[in-house]
Amino acid sequence: MPTDSQEVVFAAVGDVHGHMNRMVDHLRHQAEVLRRPFDFILQVGDFEPHRDEADLATMSAPAKYRQLGDFAAYHQARRRFPWPLYFIGGNHEPYGYLDTHPEGFELVRHCHYLGRVGVVDLHGLRVVGLSGIYQEESFRVQRPPLSALGSVSTKAFTYFNERDVEQALELGRADVLLVHDWPSGIIAPEDSAGFQGKRRSPNADTVGNEYARLLVDALQPKLVLCGHMHRSYRGSVHHASGRTTQVRCLASVEQGLDAFGLFHFRGDACSETLLDR
Ligand SMILES: [Zn+2]
Repeated sequence: MPTDSQEVVFAAVGDVHGHMNRMVDHLRHQAEVLRRPFDFILQVGDFEPHRDEADLATMSAPAKYRQLGDFAAYHQARRRFPWPLYFIGGNHEPYGYLDTHPEGFELVRHCHYLGRVGVVDLHGLRVVGLSGIYQEESFRVQRPPLSALGSVSTKAFTYFNERDVEQALELGRADVLLVHDWPSGIIAPEDSAGFQGKRRSPNADTVGNEYARLLVDALQPKLVLCGHMHRSYRGSVHHASGRTTQVRCLASVEQGLDAFGLFHFRGDACSETLLDR
């Protein structure tokens, strides 16, 4: 935890899908309004850091979503990330690239992959991340090795499994938790009508997955960040311990400001500041 006199300020970003330039432009504007740099940026997956067509070929996605995106310019150092950024993997990633370092790595300066399961201490905040999404049939099986790329579906690389969840649980506690899909059971009854018959949510009860929720209940973070649904939402989970977890679901960068969140931590207190429109 940061001390009471130390304020940590960071931005959270929803699915990027290769639109790094747009993300950086938005963040620069917010930092100007704030009149201070961000301490760091957290991103919730579907980042799509493709260096080239070969990386892109290892991503699971329908043809119409298969775009190289902006990352190559960052990889070639023609553009740069102004602040340290930490991301998890979503279900649309070049896993042929990311899985060369399943424990996480720095892709280019200021751009860090947290790995399949990762933990990092940022300015006194313990940030835990779990990459991938849940699928019942894949949960209890091992992920294929990188050498199987080309002979198995790229989808097989997009799921987290039981071992990943166990590894995350062993981390014990977190201040901030990053997951790609939403934890289940976070939608307030009064909001449930808004989740009826939507993409990826026939109704509010089917939104999210129970393993992300298990991590929320076990690690009891102050804040959970997630994406995947391309929709902004604020939920909360009250624990028997008396602690409360804020769950902040972010839209995608293409949708504009709803993809961004601005957070302040001081001591044990976490607050979200509304963004400048
Ligand atoms: Zn997405």
